[in-house]
Amino acid sequence: PPPTITATERPLVRLERIEKSFGSNRVIPLLNLAIRRGEFLTLLGPSGCGKTTLLRMIAGFETPSAGRVLLDGEDITSLPPYRRNVNTVFQNYALFPHLNVSDNVAFGLKQHGVAKADRTEQVQQALAMVQMDVFASRKPKELSGGQQQRVALARAIVNRPKVLLLDEPLAALDLKLRKQMQQELKNLHEQLGITFVFVTHDQEEALTMSDRIAVMNRGVIDQLDAPQTVYNHPRTRFVADFIGENNTLPGTFDGQTFRRGEVVIPVVDTPNVAPGRAFLFIRPEHVVINRQRPADTFALPAQLTGRTFLGNQWKIHCTLTDSGERIDVAVRPDELSALDGYETVYLNWPVAKATLANDQ
Ligand code: ATP
Repeated sequence: PPPTITATERPLVRLERIEKSFGSNRVIPLLNLAIRRGEFLTLLGPSGCGKTTLLRMIAGFETPSAGRVLLDGEDITSLPPYRRNVNTVFQNYALFPHLNVSDNVAFGLKQHGVAKADRTEQVQQALAMVQMDVFASRKPKELSGGQQQRVALARAIVNRPKVLLLDEPLAALDLKLRKQMQQELKNLHEQLGITFVFVTHDQEEALTMSDRIAVMNRGVIDQLDAPQTVYNHPRTRFVADFIGENNTLPGTFDGQTFRRGEVVIPVVDTPNVAPGRAFLFIRPEHVVINRQRPADTFALPAQLTGRTFLGNQWKIHCTLTDSGERIDVAVRPDELSALDGYETVYLNWPVAKATLANDQ
């Protein structure tokens, strides 16, 4: 018999065969997504790939052209935003300028008829969680951007929604404050146990904060995995290039090994890769520069053609002798002098560090 699915394993949010077009612009061709209860899920992708559109369909600000949105098993596709147990935090905070901090946070509770005493307590609690309780009587314009965003967060969590949607909430903050708020958001997520769906185009932010990352490319989720998996085992060239730095080598997969002319490269990370034309992805920090041709394993002869200083590391630029393709290698500053005087070297890498895919 098929395994039974218990209530705790049932996804909290399910997007089923979602399509979305604006006029003739097909922003989301066909998408399925299951969001786990309590997870911190990030939608990551370049500008225009459809992240915000996807988030707005969960929030109810956009209606899918086809498909269904389920929340806790209930079809909410045609419910308006205020009838969904879901709140959104926007990049521009969207606070009411004429209301003070407390009243901003209390607004939704009042609309839902929560009694004054309960309201006061819940508002106080929410403001304390974002360290804004001392600013309760200030107006938004008397607060910094970071403080306004904290108030917007308090307003979004005060009624404990099932899902908190965050649309690039930190994008307007400077780098230092953004890093601090990333940590605070993570803490808040842990304290609340609410499911967070976070939109960003910043790969570092996604890697730092998420339980899982959905990498989006033109309305399609290319990969949905834990940050470490997305980084170490990218399944498409788009994912390999968008997250971190990457070298791509075209070649042929024969079902066992990866071939480039005379060079046979062992590969192990090859799920769903069909024999034929394929691409090998290898991170700069995993490539090893050998001064002599190794006797016991594969090696790609290359010329050292340049170097770039990056503070904590150097990027060594190499050109493959057989093809002229460029490979970048990251080395620590103390490893650099060992390369002085060498022009021809032999590149390889630990076999498990390379990933193979068929697509471009
Ligand atoms: P960004 O990071 O720039 O916000 P995004 O990945 O969130 O990008 P979306 O805002 O979802 O992307 O937009 C995806 C595509 O849909 C874009 O081509 C955009 O122009 C289009 N689009 C979004 N909203 C509308 C709308 N209301 N009417 C027409 N086209 C829209």
